[in-house]
Amino acid sequence: MLPLKEKDKPIVQKLLSAGCCSRCVLRFCCVRVQAVYRRPPQETLRELQAFICNTENSKDASESTEENNKSHDAAEDPPSKRAKVELSETEARSEDAAAAAAAAPVNLKDRESSVCVVCLGILQELCGPTQAVKISEAVKAENYEFDSLVLSVSLPAQLCVREHSCWLHVKKEVREKGLVLDKDDVIQVKEAFKWIMQDLVAKELGGVAVVTRSAFEVSVEFSHEATDADCHFLASACPDCFKPTKNKQSVFTRMAVVKALEQIPDAKFLRLYSCPPAQPSSCCSPPDVQCLHVSVFVAGRYNKFCRSLPQTPWVIDGERRMESSVEELIAAPILSAFRADGFNFSSSGREDVDVRTLGNGRPFAMELLNPHRSRFNRAEIKQLQQTINESSDKIRVRDLQIVTREAMSRMKEGEEEKTKSYTALVWTQKPIQREDIAFIDDIKELTLDQKTPLRVLHRRALAVRQRVIHSMNARFLDPHHFYLGLKTQAGTYIKEFVHGDFGRTKPNLCELLKTDTDILELDVESVDVDWPPAIPE
Ligand code: ZN
Repeated sequence: MLPLKEKDKPIVQKLLSAGCCSRCVLRFCCVRVQAVYRRPPQETLRELQAFICNTENSKDASESTEENNKSHDAAEDPPSKRAKVELSETEARSEDAAAAAAAAPVNLKDRESSVCVVCLGILQELCGPTQAVKISEAVKAENYEFDSLVLSVSLPAQLCVREHSCWLHVKKEVREKGLVLDKDDVIQVKEAFKWIMQDLVAKELGGVAVVTRSAFEVSVEFSHEATDADCHFLASACPDCFKPTKNKQSVFTRMAVVKALEQIPDAKFLRLYSCPPAQPSSCCSPPDVQCLHVSVFVAGRYNKFCRSLPQTPWVIDGERRMESSVEELIAAPILSAFRADGFNFSSSGREDVDVRTLGNGRPFAMELLNPHRSRFNRAEIKQLQQTINESSDKIRVRDLQIVTREAMSRMKEGEEEKTKSYTALVWTQKPIQREDIAFIDDIKELTLDQKTPLRVLHRRALAVRQRVIHSMNARFLDPHHFYLGLKTQAGTYIKEFVHGDFGRTKPNLCELLKTDTDILELDVESVDVDWPPAIPE
């Protein structure tokens, strides 16, 4: 039994006559019982036919005695005959009599095979066990690892226009009968589609949970080229809603169409578009199925042991200058383990190509785009870290772990306030003795004024930045060389502090030692950012 009442009868009659499929009829009657949508649509159609013909069994039949008397008792008629039911006289006298009468009698055979004027076939043959198999096959082919998924449906924009037309077609009746208060009470095509398909798809995929929130999304996109022009009249009727945008192929986005339909007065709509909508000759094309997994984030710390390795690929005028980079050496094994489509790499600061990063290393994080595998246990991550470390002796990774997107921002937080420690190999023009550099150890909290270095002027704005050297120590090597240890505020330009950058950094080491000095080698000894958390070996 369909959960319909006597008062639904004229609506059902009118919708079937207009060329709506059985499931769309249920939608417009606001049937919220999901199981009813899951039944074979032909069966529902036969029941709807029987329902509008048969008034015998209806409980509130007294409401329309006149209708009862005049209409056929079709219950005992064979289906073909039962289908050919004339409109009752009551209905024939109503305002829409002419239109309704033109569409009637409703022929059951035709209805089963013809494409629905509202859903364009989406709730007909594009919605059921066969389609669930096709969607599942498409998902399986992508080889994702997941235990739940969210099913999202994208419908052609013209469906909104057709839905609106159909709503106007029955609006008067539904308002009078108190069936529906508003257009929003009508069950959405999307919703009905999901009610029918979710369990079928879940079963086909071996019992995964189809839920409303999941990291894994399967989107089913329908299109119907033959009726794309349905929306076009709205562009001249509501020009404000259709502003061309650079990256959209068509101005007729679903959002714009919905907005226009909210604005357009009923009378104007009815003048410009057919009501009920015209019969389409074909149904929507088989849907395009796309899978997408939300990004997964991994973080860790890296060491760089090589003085000829840039942090990121170094390309000048389309030509590679170095064969590899820190980023690529770390990313390659991670990408293949997570089977991701791409990545974004970020780190807490960066070192120059000729600078090594020693000690505990530099914190880094990677966003993995559309990973096909996302769950790893501790041992698997440890194994992955080992794979990275065995792949090259130029870098080394530690503390590798999966983190949340939110945790990632901790790395960039207050970066300027963090401290960094360095060791520089310094050359002096004048010969020096141990005592000449001993005073350096006593210098504390030395504030520098650093004009943007000449070497980075092409990518950073010209400014004077104040940075603090918290402490220094000097280790004598020979009369022209010593090691300078520095603990500084993040963002201090060390090379410029040593050679002075033509007086652009003040004070600088040349001034302090009263001789020309230059930097031969630089190592980052530590980046004092307490993220990501250390992982015991
Ligand atoms: Zn339909």
